[in-house]
Amino acid sequence: MKRGVLIVLSGPSGVGKGTVRKALFEEPDIDFTYSISMTTRSPRSGEIDGEDYFFVSREIFEQNIQDDNMLEYAEYVGNYYGTPKSFIDQTLASGHDVFLEIDVQGALQVKEKMPEGAYIFLTPPDLEALKARLVGRGTDAPDVIERRVGAATSEIRMMANYDYAVVNDEVALAVRRIKDIVKVERLRVNRVLPEYIEMIEELEK
Ligand code: 5GP
Repeated sequence: MKRGVLIVLSGPSGVGKGTVRKALFEEPDIDFTYSISMTTRSPRSGEIDGEDYFFVSREIFEQNIQDDNMLEYAEYVGNYYGTPKSFIDQTLASGHDVFLEIDVQGALQVKEKMPEGAYIFLTPPDLEALKARLVGRGTDAPDVIERRVGAATSEIRMMANYDYAVVNDEVALAVRRIKDIVKVERLRVNRVLPEYIEMIEELEK
């Protein structure tokens, strides 16, 4: 069975990763499996446990780290966020594409372990737009916003470590660019080569 494609959408805090991901998953022709992260942050209003995140205590998160259950994790603005590992392995092995939407620290850890993925960096059209988004979200306290702005500016420097850059000037356009990237990823030689090797071996018999 052909392995699924690992798609990692990342980028600075406030760039709109969550919005783009939600719009992408509303597309009728998308059948990526979303990797639900675990976090110690409290749910925002409207967020559902087991759908948006697995919301857990610090004790449970730290137990999962100790038990080596996390593919990656990061501490971000005072809370842990991480990707449960076994789900990703099983889903890719069953031939389904897995989509991660995670912060920059986490994405770089995943890239070390799974360099075959498609690493997409979502960029703001400009820094003013990014700051406006972080302030305008209105769901976080002012000191949290300040910390997010600080984190975001240093995160932009990490773009060089990614495979693709997608500017989030308009959500629908960003979605289209991501879909195009995945189409290209499916054509990578290292993904299709095993099929051709099988064919050649058949012919050589
Ligand atoms: P928020 O609190 O706004 O939901 O997320 C804060 C940041 O954590 C965002 O940049 C989001 O992409 C990131 N994030 C969400 N899930 C994960 C995860 O599993 N691992 C890591 N490293 N970051 C995550």
